[in-house]
Amino acid sequence: MKIVLASNNAGKLAELQTLFAPLGMTLVRQSELNIPEAEEPFKTFVENALAKARHAAQLSGLPALADDAGLCVDAFGGQPGVDTAYYATRFGYPKSDDNNVTALLEQMQGIANRRAAMVSTLVAVRSADDPEPLIAVGRVVVQITPERRGTNGFGFDPVMYLPEFGKTFAELPPEVKNANSHRGRAAQAMLALMRERWMDTASARPAG
Ligand code: IMP
Repeated sequence: MKIVLASNNAGKLAELQTLFAPLGMTLVRQSELNIPEAEEPFKTFVENALAKARHAAQLSGLPALADDAGLCVDAFGGQPGVDTAYYATRFGYPKSDDNNVTALLEQMQGIANRRAAMVSTLVAVRSADDPEPLIAVGRVVVQITPERRGTNGFGFDPVMYLPEFGKTFAELPPEVKNANSHRGRAAQAMLALMRERWMDTASARPAG
């Protein structure tokens, strides 16, 4: 089965391609089909991911998979959430991963509750009108460190401290991060949903 990925990020495609290969699925990036990016006007990950998946299914006539991700900080009532990629721009910095980290550390100065979750929401539809989209959420709970630690990874990795490892994501090898990341967890959950709902597997048939 061919499925359109409503993202142009090559890294995500590679990761998801490997994960979905056992289901006999081939992922195609929407840009390869000349599909433009959808608007993401909503306040929640699930609404944005659903809008992106519907848009890609509508324009391709194929099943589609989309993701939306971000950082939800407890002390900020779950913000910046869907606006995570643009967080620094709220404070007058140009949009960049490094400025996002600078802005976050500044905004969290003096705040004792450092808990935050990095969240990834994956939505898959069989068609644009699919009344039962598959929704899989992966999250990783971290403590935001007061300063950067480590050089691996990207985005907020240098300030995302995992108490169970005693390190930030940026101090951990990539394979350890991937096995414990929000995206890895969401993809595993989506894989299970697709097997259960979309595949005509022997275990799904009535006995006899
Ligand atoms: P995206 O939608 O997955 O591209 O991510 C939204 C925002 O979260 C961007 O600012 C990313 O830099 C950040 N982000 C996403 N995944 C990670 C991660 O695994 N570690 C750190 N930051 C991330």
